[in-house]
Amino acid sequence: MKPTIVSSLLALACAGVATAHGGDLLNQGCRPIAKRSLDLQRRQLTQSGGEGQTVTAGGGASAARYSCDPNTCKLPKCHCADTNPPGGLDPKDVPQFIVFTADDAVQDYTINSVNQFLAQRKNPNGCTPVMSYYVSLNYTNYAQVTELYVNGNDVADHTMTHQEQPATNAEIDGNLITLNALAGIPYKSIIGYRAPFLNYSRANLEHLANTGFTYDSSSTASVPVTDPNTDAFWPYTLDNGMANDCSSVADICGGQPKLPGFWEIPMYAIFDQRGAAGAHLMDPWLDSSNASDVLSWMKNTFTDHYNGKRQPFGVYTHPIHLAKGYPGLTDPVDQINMLNEFLDWATTSADMQNVWIISNKQLMAWMQNPVPASQLNTLDAFKCQKPNAGHICNGFQENNDLLEHCISNTAGDALNNSPFYTCYGCPVTTPSPQQPNPPQKNNDKSVRTRIPANCDTAFWDPINARCTCNGSGCAFDDSTRPIGPNGSNLTSSGSSNTGSSSGSSPSASSDPYRTFGSGAGRTTSSSVFGWAASVVAAAVGGAMMVFI
Ligand SMILES: [Zn+2]
Repeated sequence: MKPTIVSSLLALACAGVATAHGGDLLNQGCRPIAKRSLDLQRRQLTQSGGEGQTVTAGGGASAARYSCDPNTCKLPKCHCADTNPPGGLDPKDVPQFIVFTADDAVQDYTINSVNQFLAQRKNPNGCTPVMSYYVSLNYTNYAQVTELYVNGNDVADHTMTHQEQPATNAEIDGNLITLNALAGIPYKSIIGYRAPFLNYSRANLEHLANTGFTYDSSSTASVPVTDPNTDAFWPYTLDNGMANDCSSVADICGGQPKLPGFWEIPMYAIFDQRGAAGAHLMDPWLDSSNASDVLSWMKNTFTDHYNGKRQPFGVYTHPIHLAKGYPGLTDPVDQINMLNEFLDWATTSADMQNVWIISNKQLMAWMQNPVPASQLNTLDAFKCQKPNAGHICNGFQENNDLLEHCISNTAGDALNNSPFYTCYGCPVTTPSPQQPNPPQKNNDKSVRTRIPANCDTAFWDPINARCTCNGSGCAFDDSTRPIGPNGSNLTSSGSSNTGSSSGSSPSASSDPYRTFGSGAGRTTSSSVFGWAASVVAAAVGGAMMVFI
């Protein structure tokens, strides 16, 4: 491979990461960034070579040989790739979404890492932000995945074993089955997919659509929103094929693949001072040893989105790269502080209102019903509703004693020295694409009953095999507060503000739905996600690998 400006920059960036994170993470962490950035660069070169030059204002649609008739492709089932906001909304009435995502294993290090950025914040409606977590099997604690889901986060599919090549169907389906069986999440609630290494194929998209997923978010929007040829489309359905990644993924675009009603959520790149030639996607804080440089890239790109057509802004993380206390590694303090400074700036500035930190699942809900920012509270997906559920092993902190710790006695087995806890019965073997739902071990002589399709996680009692609440009549405590001109202000609270500007909203520490593990002395006293942290931390030990 010929050295290029981008690859040279990446080499420098990775050297900085090596200092911050140690050798193993260097190899794991830099590789996909290099891969994607080279893809991005290739796309730029392709465009300057002519393919993109005919693209007109309004999108990169012609570069993708994309066409879509908005008169026939209508919400909620169909939406054309478009740089303009959906529903004919004026950009000034559109919320500026910050989509926060995390990938790979779910366990203490990664949950605590995410909590550093979200647990203390409130969106303009007083609700703690939720996020999308693309979960893969290895080194994941399924009890913590249950917690993520019960807390309203978007738990999504990232394959079982995180292979680099585009996933097999068994990798995608198997992960879904394991998340259902061992994290107790209803199939219908797992709606999203992101490819490991962002390496997806047309066949993957077709399989996801055929098996009832709502969206994929593996593609890249790699041209700045200020460029008339931008490919920063709002999410769109594939009724008329893909309009992103046309030069880097085989057999897509030109109207293919046609997958009616299946959504693509592009990942929106962040740009440095070089503009289109300096695109950064996941973990941009790994791309420079100087955190203040990354902060300026993020602020400038965010400002372009906010002042333009308000396409979502992405914060795409591998939480392990921002984790504290990982054995043998220096805490990435500068990067952690930088990201919190960025989020504070973006969500609390008086100059910018209606900035929300959301999950891709929330983005999907809004795309299908794009109300003005002043009416965002009318969408259930944006409310903070707490299920009134009791002590039934359903993801709440008081159920820690009902968890089983799934440990294999076999050295080398992935369950050996594993952080794997579940409320749904430990499997006799490690789940695999061939056997994603192995029989239960029955450690405590009481087989747990897996969740059925007609109940939701917070209400499912896997011990007594009963649903404590069916239908919509069950009690929820709603702590959502008003937004809009007659409500409180339209900005969010920052990382140091655990309360809200409205007296009607509970503080984070008084909200039992959001307060797990407060007695464990962990990094946050009021945590969105952190429940049995102390229990699990003791078990994690060295059983931790990092995937991208
Ligand atoms: Zn990954």
